[in-house]
Amino acid sequence: GGWRTLDSRGPMALPDLSRCALHTITTKPWSLEQCVAGCQQAGINAITVWRNALEPYGARRAGEILRAAGMRVPALCRGGFFPAVDAAKRQAALDDNRRAIDDAATIGAEMVVLVCGAVPGMPLPEARRQIAEGIAAIAPHACASGVRLAIEPMHPAYAGDCSAISTMRQARLICEQMPWRGRDGYPVVGIAADVYHVWWDDALEDEIAIAGAKGYLQGFHVCDWKLAQSDLLNDRGLMGEGCIDIATIRGWVERAGFTGFNEVEIFSDRYWQMDQSEWLQRIVAAYLAHV
Ligand code: ZN
Repeated sequence: GGWRTLDSRGPMALPDLSRCALHTITTKPWSLEQCVAGCQQAGINAITVWRNALEPYGARRAGEILRAAGMRVPALCRGGFFPAVDAAKRQAALDDNRRAIDDAATIGAEMVVLVCGAVPGMPLPEARRQIAEGIAAIAPHACASGVRLAIEPMHPAYAGDCSAISTMRQARLICEQMPWRGRDGYPVVGIAADVYHVWWDDALEDEIAIAGAKGYLQGFHVCDWKLAQSDLLNDRGLMGEGCIDIATIRGWVERAGFTGFNEVEIFSDRYWQMDQSEWLQRIVAAYLAHV
């Protein structure tokens, strides 16, 4: 890559992999050990661990594998799914989220990413009320465990059954209801901004600035929005394949004070069929060119 001009304030640093993190789901066919080895070979030093990748090892063993490789772990994916039609299901979600927090602490993950949930037929305001209630119920445990919770707003196409939180603003309004602070003074409940989900929002630049100023900006996920998607979940684009101006959004995020990882999270049936080492090489090239 070369110098990239952010704005009149001058050039950004040359792109490199020092702040690149890989979500295990991006190389889904790989086990956690294969993913760690692949990242080491590719020069990536951070891995966000999905629970399906953790499962075969258990959190203790997974933590050993990650630490032995010197991997930083930005996040465990994922908790959430708070709203439900009956109390027993809501309670089961809280128990599951507490287990996710425990596992995050064990593997050294900084945060648990929350896909907050939605129930077909349940009015979105009611779903959001239950989401806030659920996060408030687990936040003390996260606080005591030294793990943060990151609400991930999801594209409105997912509002029917996956996330009643569609925008950065809706996520922020929930964060503002949560009084818990970690030992470092930062809010325990914050936001993970995924370019796929929030790039279309005309309030994005402002909301990133507000979230940064309030200490809510915890995670930043990258992939791309392809114009023709064969599947809403599993046909995401590699950076540069779609229409998201990732570098500009990253500039906003950094200007808001974010110093965390740029996490590559790509669900793709197409790319999961490739040799995953070759796929990771393409990811690295795309990251250097477009993030
Ligand atoms: Zn994401």
